[in-house]
Amino acid sequence: MVVAPSGAGKSSLVNALLRQRPDIRLSISCTTRPPRPGESDGQHYHFVTVEEFERLRDEDALLEWAEVHGNFYGTPRAGILEATQAGSDVLLEIDWQGARQVKARFPEAIGVFILPPSIEALEARLNQRGQDEPHVIARRLLAAGGEFAHAPECEYVIINQHFSAALADLDCIVSAARLRFRSQAARHAGLFSQLGIPPVSAPR
Ligand code: 5GP
Repeated sequence: MVVAPSGAGKSSLVNALLRQRPDIRLSISCTTRPPRPGESDGQHYHFVTVEEFERLRDEDALLEWAEVHGNFYGTPRAGILEATQAGSDVLLEIDWQGARQVKARFPEAIGVFILPPSIEALEARLNQRGQDEPHVIARRLLAAGGEFAHAPECEYVIINQHFSAALADLDCIVSAARLRFRSQAARHAGLFSQLGIPPVSAPR
């Protein structure tokens, strides 16, 4: 799970990671937020009405959901289960509230919090993006303060000062996650059993 307030550069980092790690599946969230210029339905988000969102939520079709900046966002459950059962790693780009819900259900999920190098840099990025109204930017900036307070809930923190260094950090975290005992035991079950390595019961 990659967690960050808007403007920390999370989406650019995630997109670059997916280009170099095409085997990672990105979960496409549902949102009631209107599309920004350049965003398309089914690629950036599934853009839904409040009624559709509430129906999905009430049908338990969402793995987690949260209200962020006055809009609803949620992770469709179906794609995640399919991908994890097929042994793929799934990346969620969500807020801290969603990350907390996922962690409660899947303790092995890893949280990576992306920080901007300064509050000024965050403000500059939100303004430069030029995709949101000034009052929306002001609301996002104000909310960012509260979101940073949840950074300690993540296992990893990346400071996005230099894009290529931050991308290398994110890539390292993926490698480390794949080398965890449980992941390796699942991937190399035959070898582990041949070598007599006992299975673990608690998450590592
Ligand atoms: P944006 O509107 O800038 O795309 O996203 C606003 C915030 O909503 C970001 O912090 C983003 O990570 C979060 N978000 C996006 N999709 C989801 C989701 O499915 N669940 C939750 N809980 N947050 C999400």
